[in-house]
Amino acid sequence: MVEEKEKGAIEETAKREKWIEAIIEGKKLESYAEYKTKEMHICFLCETICYKRIPVKKIGNKYICINCLKVLKELIENLEIWESEVSIDRDIERQIQEEVKESRK
Ligand SMILES: [Zn+2]
Repeated sequence: MVEEKEKGAIEETAKREKWIEAIIEGKKLESYAEYKTKEMHICFLCETICYKRIPVKKIGNKYICINCLKVLKELIENLEIWESEVSIDRDIERQIQEEVKESRK
C-alpha cells in the first residue's frame, strides 16, 4: 500500500514539473512574441509585415518597406515626365473640347 502511495506521489511531482515546464515554455513564447512584435512593422502602403529581413523606414508615425520606397523613388525620379504627360493629356483634352465647340457653331 505504501508503495502505491509513493508511486502516486512521484507521479504527482512529475505531473507538476511537467505543468511548470509548460508554463515556462508558454512564458518564453510570450516574451519571444513580444520581442518579435517590437521588431515587427507593418508597411502602411502595402501592409506587408516586415521583420528584420525586410528593411523599413519610419516616416512620421508610419513605417514604409523598402519595396514601396523603391516604387516611390522611381515615381519621384519620373515625376517630371509624369507631369508633362499629364499636361499633354490636359492639352489634348482641351483641344478636343474646343474643336467640339467649334464644330457645334
Ligand atoms: Zn510596402
